Amino acid sequence: MHALIIGGGVAGTTTAMAFKKAGITSAVYEAHPDGLSERGAFLSLFANGMDALRAIDAHQLVSERSFAVTRLEFATGTGKRLRDARLDQDRFGRLEAPRTLRRAELCRLLADEARRRGIPVEGGKRLVSAVRTSADRVVATFADGTEAEGDLLVGADGIHSVVRRLIDPAAPRPRYTGEDAVCGYASKAPAIASPETMRMMYGKRSFFAYVTTPGGDTWWFINTPGSTSTPDDRGSVTPEQWKRRALNRVSGDIRTATELIRSTEDDVVGISVYDISSTPVWHRDHMLVIGDAAHAAAPNAGHGAAMALEDSVVLAKCLRDVPGVEAAFARFEQLRRPRVEELVATSANMKRRAIPGPLQRLLRDFMLSRLLKDGPRNARPWLTRHHIDWEATTGPLEVKDRQ
Ligand SMILES: Cc1cc2nc3c(=O)[nH]c(=O)nc-3n(C[C@H](O)[C@H](O)[C@H](O)COP(=O)(O)OP(=O)(O)OC[C@H]3O[C@@H](n4cnc5c(N)ncnc54)[C@H](O)[C@@H]3O)c2cc1C
Repeated sequence: MHALIIGGGVAGTTTAMAFKKAGITSAVYEAHPDGLSERGAFLSLFANGMDALRAIDAHQLVSERSFAVTRLEFATGTGKRLRDARLDQDRFGRLEAPRTLRRAELCRLLADEARRRGIPVEGGKRLVSAVRTSADRVVATFADGTEAEGDLLVGADGIHSVVRRLIDPAAPRPRYTGEDAVCGYASKAPAIASPETMRMMYGKRSFFAYVTTPGGDTWWFINTPGSTSTPDDRGSVTPEQWKRRALNRVSGDIRTATELIRSTEDDVVGISVYDISSTPVWHRDHMLVIGDAAHAAAPNAGHGAAMALEDSVVLAKCLRDVPGVEAAFARFEQLRRPRVEELVATSANMKRRAIPGPLQRLLRDFMLSRLLKDGPRNARPWLTRHHIDWEATTGPLEVKDRQ
């Protein structure tokens, strides 16, 4: 069996490695010429994401190039501490602390590892169409006029997925949440966080977070309401303009943030935030979407990449265990849809609470400081405690999905 994998982001290259472990050959086709997407945000891979990487023996390389964040510190805009939360333990015991790194670095590491394992990862291959032939093969066509043929096609092409539209032309379009995330990387920062601690500050008009890397740089992000320009125009916004937008949100409110943003040079990126509450059709004609292409959550819960990694490994297991491509895809959907849609809903809910009105703000600060009394805890063990056992069978397709 040979698979065409569209997208060389988090899910694409991981899927290729998981397929290889399951005895399926594949090639990865990435739109960006160098095979890597834009610089982007930094992200934290929680224990469940690292667990998925462990299933395909790829966790070590990510551990080596990332740093642990063991603690969250919640504070008001003025710096008053509200609550701490441990990320390396929950009420059930110890957990692997999330590993933090830049998304582009994660994609590069995974792509390099896939190549090292003998999997072709080609850049400059933007998928434009795909069809299933009468001989049960899928033929993909790229913008450069070339074609590729396989037994199945996996769309790991992110939130603006072309594959999703090819599978279901009526698929819901990504919804612009009205927010942009601005991320900065400061090498001369005055406000240094404690080691292994991400500080989350709730101001009057924004939510700001920062973490200091073991090398002494400080990485920060802020959610800001989008401007009047269309999301597509945002690529032309300069780092200086993103900085100014971020400063407008925090000035006179979160002093630490103002200092940090000012001290950042031009390593600043802005990302428009989209989500899709539910994508009704995930597969058709030997084509399937995974990762953000199937379920794009706003980044508030910080779990989209971990979910994409879980998808990759579970999909490989389904193709290994369930006879027939369509039945394996249906089993994959059965196993994954409830979990990923719960994440999308959780993230959307967290977004609503991030920038509340004055009364809600008082209530929120009160609730957060009360929770401090309960001691450290992980509020979402259903997310982080997820484990994939590579050896265990996925089980057959449940009958209800055959109808
Ligand atoms: C600000 C922000 C912060 C985040 N923080 C976290 C976090 O802390 N933890 C976490 O787990 N997640 C986080 N996420 C979410 C995470 O980044 C995504 O969920 C994850 O990248 C999804 O992986 P993916 O492989 O599905 O898609 P992507 O990583 O988007 O990869 C898709 C790839 O497909 C390529 N592509 C697109 N179209 C085509 C085409 N037509 N042909 C070929 N290739 C194509 C793209 O160039 C890209 O490389 C965050 C997201 C944002 C925006």
